Amino acid sequence: MYPSRFRYEAPHSLDEAIGMLRDGGDYAKVLAGGQSLVPLMKLRFAAPELVVDINNVPGLAYHRADPDGTLRIGALTRHADLERSELLRTTQPTMAAAAPLIADPIVRNRGTLVGSLCHADPQGDWASVVLSLGGSVVAQSPRGKRTIPMSGFVTGPFENVLDPDEIAVEAVIPPARGQRAGGYLKLERRVGDFATVGVAVAVEISDGSVVTRAGIGLTGVGGSTIVATEAAAVLTGKPLTPESIGRAADLAAAAARPRTDHRGSAEYKRHMVKTFVERILAGSNRSYDNEAERAA
Ligand SMILES: Cc1cc2nc3c(=O)[nH]c(=O)nc-3n(C[C@H](O)[C@H](O)[C@H](O)COP(=O)(O)OP(=O)(O)OC[C@H]3O[C@@H](n4cnc5c(N)ncnc54)[C@H](O)[C@@H]3O)c2cc1C
Repeated sequence: MYPSRFRYEAPHSLDEAIGMLRDGGDYAKVLAGGQSLVPLMKLRFAAPELVVDINNVPGLAYHRADPDGTLRIGALTRHADLERSELLRTTQPTMAAAAPLIADPIVRNRGTLVGSLCHADPQGDWASVVLSLGGSVVAQSPRGKRTIPMSGFVTGPFENVLDPDEIAVEAVIPPARGQRAGGYLKLERRVGDFATVGVAVAVEISDGSVVTRAGIGLTGVGGSTIVATEAAAVLTGKPLTPESIGRAADLAAAAARPRTDHRGSAEYKRHMVKTFVERILAGSNRSYDNEAERAA
């Protein structure tokens, strides 16, 4: 199917793009990688009158760490850039594990992490990852910049808090309070598919192997991305043990709200949440031990 008629603009500066969005109001949409917006337009689930393509806006394709360890990911950073990133491979195990599991190589070459957060698909993988890491989104509008914690960014399936004239310019991951460990596991029907179940776990472990911070995000097992707060809480303030891992896995499974569908029963999906949490945390424990041995 062809999309409805729309006006296409490709501004060369952020100010110009924001001005166009302001003038377009509710009828304008940002186009980043186009990997969600274009299919929606072709299916006529979205029919913007104005599409503002930000791909010519300079200075939005980056991911870098500040001196204090804060990670910044610009709005035109593609999934593929993150998949190949040495910075993520060495400092961000949860993000590095998720990047190659997003869609397929063609989608990863165009789609962006920030676009995925804005799209707010309950089956989007990056939202769980960014939530598990306590991240946020920086938005820019004619009124200036504001930082929105990811926990308050999504208001429902395919809905976020951005005003019509706001562009999300970057995602921000705060620095770790210790050594990072964790991962992302995804059950999919075939390679490149959306998650039947996805689990993001991020832990920070200080000297003495105490977990100083933990976050768990669940993909595809509810009407929106789920933060398993109670599960993460049982991990903090003590070392990872088989008992704490088992308890966190049970609480994460209890936090999931899966529905039985063609991908599997609710019971099966809940079981997969538990299994994935256990697997990631058991691996995190091993990788921390290895690091500690190397450092000794
Ligand atoms: C075949 C296929 C398989 C896929 N599989 C997966 C998968 O397994 N896991 C997964 O997570 N995703 C998957 N996706 C979605 C993909 O990851 C998209 O790239 C992502 O959801 C959106 O990023 P984008 O840059 O393409 O955004 P776009 O399609 O350009 O935009 C998506 C929405 O976000 C808004 N938006 C985008 N950027 C901004 C911005 N900077 N500021 C304000 N609003 C913005 C747009 O207006 C639009 O409403 C798949 C897509 C396809 C086509």
